[in-house]
Amino acid sequence: MTAVARKQRLQAAVQDAATPLLAWYDAERRELPWRYEPGAKADPYRVWLSEIMLQQTTVKVVIPYFLRFVAKWPTVKALAAADEDDVLRAWAGLGYYARARNLIACARAVAARPDGKFPRTEAELLELPGIGPYTAAAIAAIAYGQLASPVDGNVERVVARLFAVKTELPAAKAELRVLAATLTPARRAGDFAQAMMDLGAQVCTPKRPLCLMCPLKSICKANMLGIADDLPRRAVKAERPVRYAIAFLALREDGRVLLRRRPDSGLLARMMEIPSTEWADDEPEIQAALQGAPIRSDWWAVPGLIVHTFTHFRLEIQVMRAVVPVDEPLTFWASQERCTWVARRDLKNEALPSVMRKIIAHALKEN
Ligand code: SF4
Repeated sequence: MTAVARKQRLQAAVQDAATPLLAWYDAERRELPWRYEPGAKADPYRVWLSEIMLQQTTVKVVIPYFLRFVAKWPTVKALAAADEDDVLRAWAGLGYYARARNLIACARAVAARPDGKFPRTEAELLELPGIGPYTAAAIAAIAYGQLASPVDGNVERVVARLFAVKTELPAAKAELRVLAATLTPARRAGDFAQAMMDLGAQVCTPKRPLCLMCPLKSICKANMLGIADDLPRRAVKAERPVRYAIAFLALREDGRVLLRRRPDSGLLARMMEIPSTEWADDEPEIQAALQGAPIRSDWWAVPGLIVHTFTHFRLEIQVMRAVVPVDEPLTFWASQERCTWVARRDLKNEALPSVMRKIIAHALKEN
């Protein structure tokens, strides 16, 4: 056989990844609360909700949130009618809160459609708030069985290895999307999409992929070349900048904690927070920061720092704590109309992002 013929044969085999992969999926797929039996049509609402929750978040973390959401809001219509603060509270801890606000906006847009249902095509789905190309393709394939190829980080990795793509990410993204589309079968496109996700999560893992157990090992170019561990290649990322803040945890003598609602737009918009200084590029000076504290008191610096990583920066927070009398007034700087005193036992019900929960746990750990 000539080299050209060998190459063509390998190309054809790779493009027939669907047969072994679907057989593997039928036997080994993960049981997940938003999954349906192979071949069955899924509920677009559950597919959409799970896919939005899974963005930047692990399956293990998402499962209890997903179950709580569908118990409380079993349909897109129910979610559309929900109070926004209730949804933000239920979302608290999942991070990336713009997703929660888009979730409500999207549910309302779907409920306002003449049939009250999610549209079926990728193009129409893309017009909904918070739905990008990946989620549109996932809903079209999984809920409607359409020929669509959702490509997330897991799928990028599998495809880069199957075809031994050596171009660095993110430059390789477009090429990987095209290659993923060539693999997708017309029949069972939804199962194929989920099989690729499962393969990436369980077998073709970022480090030490389990090639010996892989249903695609005989057609995988990276496996044949022994370079699976080195793919996909990534351009070196610039280091995240650091921002600094001082947070003021005021604990009232009746056991209530001072919370403030964040501004209506921007990062963590409308979520609750422990009042703090601006998140600035330079380290704040404590004496100056105390002038802007939300309440006059003997503030005490809690030893240690809270470090939280956001997508575009790292935040380092010094936490100050004070125990204050019940009748102590707030200062002008507290933005009184946005502040509220919440009993410690009720903090779990507040729309507090993870970074704020870290601050509270840090400040109250000796109480
Ligand atoms: Fe990934 Fe290895 Fe399977 Fe190739 S053979 S797809 S590298 S797990």
